[in-house]
Amino acid sequence: MFRKVQIPQPLIQSLQGVEGFDEAAFLNVHTSATPITSIRVHPQKSEAIHDIFSGSIERVPWSSHGYYLSERPSFTFDPLFHAGCYYVQEASSMFIEQVLQQTVDLSKPLKILDLCAAPGGKSTLIQSLLSKSSLLVSNEVIRQRVNVLKDNIVKWGCNNVIVTHNDPRDFAKLKGFFDVIVVDAPCSGSGLFKKDEDAIKEWSENNVILCSQRQQRILADVMPALKENGIIIYSTCSYSKEEDEDILDWLSTAFSLSNIRLDTKPEWHIVETTSQLRNYGYRFWPHLLRGEGFFVAAFRKNDGEKFKNKTRFVSRPVTRQLAMQLDSWMDISEQELQNVKGSIYAWPKVMYEDYDLLLQHLRVVYSGTLAGALVHNKFIPDHALAMSPLIHTEVSGTEVDASTAIAYLQRKNIEIPGLDAGWNVIRYRGHNLGWVNVLPTRINNYYPKELRILKEKP
Ligand code: SAM
Repeated sequence: MFRKVQIPQPLIQSLQGVEGFDEAAFLNVHTSATPITSIRVHPQKSEAIHDIFSGSIERVPWSSHGYYLSERPSFTFDPLFHAGCYYVQEASSMFIEQVLQQTVDLSKPLKILDLCAAPGGKSTLIQSLLSKSSLLVSNEVIRQRVNVLKDNIVKWGCNNVIVTHNDPRDFAKLKGFFDVIVVDAPCSGSGLFKKDEDAIKEWSENNVILCSQRQQRILADVMPALKENGIIIYSTCSYSKEEDEDILDWLSTAFSLSNIRLDTKPEWHIVETTSQLRNYGYRFWPHLLRGEGFFVAAFRKNDGEKFKNKTRFVSRPVTRQLAMQLDSWMDISEQELQNVKGSIYAWPKVMYEDYDLLLQHLRVVYSGTLAGALVHNKFIPDHALAMSPLIHTEVSGTEVDASTAIAYLQRKNIEIPGLDAGWNVIRYRGHNLGWVNVLPTRINNYYPKELRILKEKP
């Protein structure tokens, strides 16, 4: 496939001499390359990858669960996509797995902040790597982008994630709280030129400068929340040095941080770059590997305050009767059940104090698992419970075929004979899609309105 793509000349000029840059190959890959499709499968919702996708399938070499697909299927009309069996993610970004594995002990209970998280690619990846007793705070500052982040966290079936909607500076009050902070910074977006022509139209030298200033502001705002010896991971999808190596040098000058050199295999073709102050960064060039443009680096913090909790705990317990009721829907043995204004949440017991603290200090949009709501003293299960690994497999439900699954996901009326009265889970190939409520005369489709498939299958 040949496209006429006009890469801005000032960008080309600025990249001369940058390690790994090859003007002819770079321009060529932007005009001639076929698009790359890659996905990352959910490790706990394991499906044989060859049963889901046709065509040839190859592993993303730096990722445990990432695959390249030779054909781009219609993800919208695949019920397994809606069941959270996989996430469509650009391959270079999956390298965050390597960064975490090489910088922290993932078997330990960790507190991780993904500061710029929407739509949730890195958050769902990080969540898959964490131990059950680790906490991920997944934050997005832009209002219109928080809901998609929350929806993706729910779809991924996470119990140890808190979704927040805060400005980076709001985290400064949590001094020394996090073991790891990931800043996947908003940037000028040149790394996306290959798949997004709008990114080319929006690019300017001035925007590169504005982005680099904003990146510094974001990093400075959030730095106090990182504990001593904590890890900060910085990434962008920009090729510009001002947003990449120069930010590393600014970081190592402004704060007491030690840059961490990472291991990469030569056959991955990731380029290690060295900044003026000898900080290592890692560049993903699309003419050298199968992925979009990406840059990442990691630092260890040498100083920092110890986190002091001055917050008084607040308990919002549910009644014993409701707890007994919930016990028949889900595994509550390791959960603390909380009634937050009529919404019933299950929080992991081991993290209860952290959840409570964050609920008091941040704008929490979602936490743990939303089991359901109490309406006129009756428990109504939430979509998140259907998507959660905590739900009992014995909860009433039914398997449906692909076309019924799509009709369900379109929120159409579906007819399924023989269902028990009341709440039932709709399953496709054993994976939960959501709820229906079976009444004597009809079946009410409870798939969330905002998630429904709007298109008709071609
Ligand atoms: N990490 C995400 C993923 O893997 O799916 C992609 C994040 S995207 C590169 C950068 C994010 O930063 C966007 O969601 C954007 O809304 C957010 N953002 C924009 N301005 C910001 C700011 N001033 N502070 C923090 N985040 C900001």
